[in-house]
Amino acid sequence: MKSRRRPYAEQRPQDLGGGVWSVPVPIPGNPLGYTLVYAVDSPKGPVLVDAGWNHPDAWQALSGGLSSLGLDVSAVSGVVVTHFHPDHAGLAGQVRQASGAWIAMHENDAALVRIMNEHTADEHDDFQSDMLRRAGADPGETRQARAPRPTPPVPPDRELRDGDLVELPGRKLRALHTPGHTPGHICLHLEDADRLFTGDHVLPDITPHIGIYPFDRDDVDPLGDFLDSLDRVGELGPLDALPAHEWIFPDVAARAAQIRHHHEEKLVRLRALLAQRPAPLTIWEVAAMMTWNRPWEDLSPVLKGMAAGEAAAHLRALEARGQVRRVAGVDPVRFQALDS
Ligand SMILES: [Zn+2]
Repeated sequence: MKSRRRPYAEQRPQDLGGGVWSVPVPIPGNPLGYTLVYAVDSPKGPVLVDAGWNHPDAWQALSGGLSSLGLDVSAVSGVVVTHFHPDHAGLAGQVRQASGAWIAMHENDAALVRIMNEHTADEHDDFQSDMLRRAGADPGETRQARAPRPTPPVPPDRELRDGDLVELPGRKLRALHTPGHTPGHICLHLEDADRLFTGDHVLPDITPHIGIYPFDRDDVDPLGDFLDSLDRVGELGPLDALPAHEWIFPDVAARAAQIRHHHEEKLVRLRALLAQRPAPLTIWEVAAMMTWNRPWEDLSPVLKGMAAGEAAAHLRALEARGQVRRVAGVDPVRFQALDS
């Protein structure tokens, strides 16, 4: 499939009308290219939706982009973060330093940020090694598939829950809890303008990574949550979507339905794949059988680890639907199709 990716170099800060602006902020060394940071006007000073990656080039692009639009980063009154990932929350701390702005995010992601700030890089390594081993990766792969620990974002000043209004005098910007990509992902509905800031939840061409960490958890169902969250967004109707990557697009409900369909098909294929195998399989074996954007052998160890997280989320969703069972008491954990 041909990539519809648009390079960062072609992006420009934009006045989107109605007191909303967008600033592309580069993600150095990442094929995703850039985060779209949005500014929403308010009498107290603009509120940013997301902030971008914590890097000097990104800071330059954000502060320079805002000033090219007649906005000053020192006047920003708040930063609301769609989720804790570094390409969204990374620069929030520096914006706060420059402006005294508050930082807000959903309480579930705020809890994760606190945990991240409490753990050392060694503890992060141990957590990942153990998780990869229990997924069935061999010891060599376990060593290489560990992703480096990203610098944790700063803890927020405000925690949001579903339905909360973000402080934006004279306007209505409401948090819609859309867990899946992270447990505390939110979309932000600008109700007075029929626009939805979708973060990574609904993107026009790609779909967000949905993983489960650790892989063998059976008390959560991120993919099930994600599919429910797509339905929630669909219920808002054909709003204009302002996503955090790629480009702005119309009719968020149609795209949400398309993404749901993509995952439902993937679940059906995975269930069929498992049904062909008599013996229970490890998460690693299942990931190696699934279709990725390149052959399994060509994926780097870190990408194999992410693929395993995604395979695990699909296995867990099938388990929650009663189509797959987890074999009790084996290490590494194994899964098997159930007759249905
Ligand atoms: Zn993300």
